[in-house]
Amino acid sequence: MLLLDRIYENYKANGDRVAYESCGDSLTYKELWEQSDRLAFFLWKYYGDKDEKQPVIVYGHKRALMPVCFLACVKAGRPYCPVDTSMPDTRIRDIAEAMGNPIVLATEDFPIEEGRVLNEVVIRGLAGSSETPEEFERKISPEDTYYIIFTSGSTGKPKGVEISYSNLSCFADWSADFFPEGARIMNQAPFSFDLSVMDTYSALAGGCSLYGLPKDMQKECGQTLEFIRTNRIQYLVSTPSFVNMLLADKTFCEDDFPDIVQFLFCGERLTKETVRRIWERFPNARIINTYGPTESTVAVTSVEITGDMLDTEDELPIGRVKPGSRIIIEDDEIIICGDTVSSGYFRDEEKTGKTFFEKDGMRCYRSGDRGYFRGDMLYYTGRKDNQIKLHGYRIELGDIESNLIGINGITEAAVLPKMKDGTIKSLTAFVAAGGCGDNAAAADRDCPELTFQEVKEIKARLAEKLPAYMIPKKIRAVAEMPRNINGKTDRKRLEQML
Ligand code: AMP
Repeated sequence: MLLLDRIYENYKANGDRVAYESCGDSLTYKELWEQSDRLAFFLWKYYGDKDEKQPVIVYGHKRALMPVCFLACVKAGRPYCPVDTSMPDTRIRDIAEAMGNPIVLATEDFPIEEGRVLNEVVIRGLAGSSETPEEFERKISPEDTYYIIFTSGSTGKPKGVEISYSNLSCFADWSADFFPEGARIMNQAPFSFDLSVMDTYSALAGGCSLYGLPKDMQKECGQTLEFIRTNRIQYLVSTPSFVNMLLADKTFCEDDFPDIVQFLFCGERLTKETVRRIWERFPNARIINTYGPTESTVAVTSVEITGDMLDTEDELPIGRVKPGSRIIIEDDEIIICGDTVSSGYFRDEEKTGKTFFEKDGMRCYRSGDRGYFRGDMLYYTGRKDNQIKLHGYRIELGDIESNLIGINGITEAAVLPKMKDGTIKSLTAFVAAGGCGDNAAAADRDCPELTFQEVKEIKARLAEKLPAYMIPKKIRAVAEMPRNINGKTDRKRLEQML
């Protein structure tokens, strides 16, 4: 069923139910539907004919206007691109430039000049205006792009993944079943990450209530727990990293949080250790592991973890493939095919051609993940390339490396993950500044160490271009980058220097 039809049914059946709540704002299904109709009408009337189907940036964090803007854009036949307030200006500018003078619906102050910005006051006015016809006739078709989410790109510029209305509807038809109608679900991820699609659209498709945890509250475990308690959250959707952080607080247990019934994970490896720790505190909770990339609409496999698995498996599985999708393993690589695979990267045929292809009438995506099947159960064994997950965030190491070059005379950079207990704990950047130390033969020797001030400056300049989670913890100078026989950076040798 198409997603907007499902949301419409919830609006008709349970208009007064909370659809979304965050930052002190609350939105019922009735408000969400009717306000987005009005805003859609405006977008269509004033901008519709001129550049129909051009994407709109929806800028902000978690306020209730965000989902109103999302639905308004798509009802008006335009894809939206969610941009979170935590994104640095340069990154926002890259996205706005890629889109070409887009309309911007800004629910918080928009930090750059580019784009035709409609601010919160205007949006609220339009979303509340009574100028709309009784019901707005939706302009989106199944093959149209529904949203574009930008993710780290290895060349230093983010790449936009286009997800169609049909992709998202197929995904939501499957994912809504993880939550019963009326469930109280927590949203942890910002809307600019596709993990948020899991909670947002499963909730709206399934007639649930979604509670958005603002980023300020995430900084303090105590505040996050207070949020979970006061909103009587039953279903958590997050990365394992996030729950590991909560588990550090001893009060996070069933006695204090009797409403919690399920943890649904996606985005990074779920370890047996995390599962054991959860069950020690929440012996009755269901734990579900799901797997998938942004390029195939959040997730394509799922499995409910059982006690048996802890005893019999070395590594926990990532699940069985959802209906409508197919997974092929080719040279160890997980290839995802089917109804949720994106058409490709926004206005980038070259990148799209490298990883997307058609097979037997199905859209397919080379995930870069390694894996294997045992029966119908899929297992994940790692990556083929330099894409990593740090605290649940997807990062191309090449993205950081490209952005380091040019800062304070840096001519070459290599960023390496530091592992502990099989998980990436932090990043270290090795930088060569050309000419530092004339004895170039001593390639694996550190340059005279960077001063505290130099490191601080490099990090600050990098933070102008990259989100905070991408800034390496350590920056170390090398006289010259070590090379392997092919002349490439010898990452193995750098690893030994970590
Ligand atoms: P993203 O596009 O941010 O959702 O990141 C997708 C990548 O995260 C995948 O290609 C995998 O490398 C990794 N990933 C997602 N889910 C899991 C999981 N359940 N277990 C291990 N890795 C995962």
